[in-house]
Amino acid sequence: MPDDLDYDSPAALQNFFKALNISPRKFLGQNFLINRGVREKIISLLNLQKEDELWEIGPGLGAMTASAIDKVDHLCAFEIDYAYQQILENFFGQYPAFRLIHGDVLKTFSEHKTQKTIKILGNLPYNIASAVIQEFINQPFEIAVLLIQKELAHRMTAQPRKKNYSSFSVWCQCHFDMKTHGIVRPNSFYPAPRVDSMIISLRLKNTITQQLTAMLNSLLRVAFAGRRKTLRNNLVRAQEGRLRHISQDIFLQACAHAGINLNKRAEEYEPHVYLNCAYYLLESLSSIDSSSFS
Ligand code: SAM
Repeated sequence: MPDDLDYDSPAALQNFFKALNISPRKFLGQNFLINRGVREKIISLLNLQKEDELWEIGPGLGAMTASAIDKVDHLCAFEIDYAYQQILENFFGQYPAFRLIHGDVLKTFSEHKTQKTIKILGNLPYNIASAVIQEFINQPFEIAVLLIQKELAHRMTAQPRKKNYSSFSVWCQCHFDMKTHGIVRPNSFYPAPRVDSMIISLRLKNTITQQLTAMLNSLLRVAFAGRRKTLRNNLVRAQEGRLRHISQDIFLQACAHAGINLNKRAEEYEPHVYLNCAYYLLESLSSIDSSSFS
């Protein structure tokens, strides 16, 4: 355990970096959380139990790892930066609970398998946060507690007809139950980012199969393609991906079934409306697939 590194002191971190001849890398979103209160809040939201398997994304110097390592039997940390991999092995390698996964979490997350339902923790690098969150549906998890850019948290939880309601809002609300737990100001990080962050917790909804997700993705891509256009313009004219196998008739039936008025815009509709529409389309597609074999 890094007893001699004060995670709350920018001066201590600066000295530590200087001694190793490294510095935080912006393109990897290396803004270290120097606010002990925020770290404690994140850890307490996870409600860790000894038998839990915790996956930490981007542990960096291990500020949050250090708070969690004694609380669980398995802590699996995903870190891309070689310098931090060395530091983490040094600090935590002697803990039987600790396991470090080297490389890009966007590749290693779904490659790494476990039989257990996991909990997820991460002060996510801003530039890959939404891509990482999309990976979560490939791994059953009980709860994820994340620190992300405030705007992204607002986008994920935005309601229909609000300015930041987007296809990603629909996608997130179809897959997760989400709750925000307060804003974290730039001075809680070293180096300080330019933007506010927010703590958000996610729980996976169990109802969505991989095929339904794929159909929903295709539907959302076209529905939200032109924000100023009506759904008729976006949906009927731009059938792509899985939607290209579906006739316009079925497409219109699916929209009617879901209660979608094609003269409105995509941001008018609640997430469950898109999910219903995707479900109807998927059912139609599987009946087309099975009739082609009969
Ligand atoms: N958890 C530490 C903290 O809170 O102080 C560091 C968080 S820092 C915002 C983001 C961390 O994610 C860095 O350690 C960075 O190297 C790592 N990272 C960035 N891109 C990554 C990727 N694609 N895969 C895995 N780790 C990544």
